[in-house]
Amino acid sequence: MSGMRGGAVTGAWLMEKSRLEVGVDVPWVTSWTEEPVIGVRPCPTVGGRPALVQKDAAGFGRPQYSQNHLVRQRQTVRGMLCPMCGRPTDAGDRWTQVARRTPAGLLRRTGKAAGLSREIEDRRVLLDAGSIAPLHKACVERSLQHCPHLRTDPNVNVMPFPARWTILPLLIEAAPMLETGAMAGAAVLVVTFLQLVGITDSTDRDWRFRKAPPRDQPAG
Ligand SMILES: [Zn+2]
Repeated sequence: MSGMRGGAVTGAWLMEKSRLEVGVDVPWVTSWTEEPVIGVRPCPTVGGRPALVQKDAAGFGRPQYSQNHLVRQRQTVRGMLCPMCGRPTDAGDRWTQVARRTPAGLLRRTGKAAGLSREIEDRRVLLDAGSIAPLHKACVERSLQHCPHLRTDPNVNVMPFPARWTILPLLIEAAPMLETGAMAGAAVLVVTFLQLVGITDSTDRDWRFRKAPPRDQPAG
């Protein structure tokens, strides 16, 4: 990453902090160009399971608005931190912008519910927030004001987030690789992002007749 010529100077220039402030001008959860993926490590965000991790250098380089930082994303869902400002949200001030109400059975049928507890019955209406943890109301309003693509997104529907929820880790298979490209060991399941699913008090008896909504969830 650091420059080949005049390395120290180039490096210093690269690492100059952006004038954009993390958590104010740029969502806290957004990934920056100076935060490359560095591999698979046991990660405290998932209780020490192997997870894909990224360098932690928010505010350096350029913000990648369409991409969430893997570790900060997991922190937001695990700790109910607002993805916009990075501070904890309290019950009663948790709002979701683009979550979808979906009966559990439909989520299962469309393969979006691997790991969903059997105790959650098929007719239970869930609020699938995808990878986006709930925001403070004030942060919802600020993001709608400042984010052009959210303003025009027909899926935006600000709703309170339920008091109960479940977390579904999104997994990929990864194997240690030699430089030759050959596998150096058995593949393991590795956590990438955490999917957050609110559990509402409603049920939908006719869930079997529902069609899956088109899934094209915007980030941030
Ligand atoms: Zn906030």
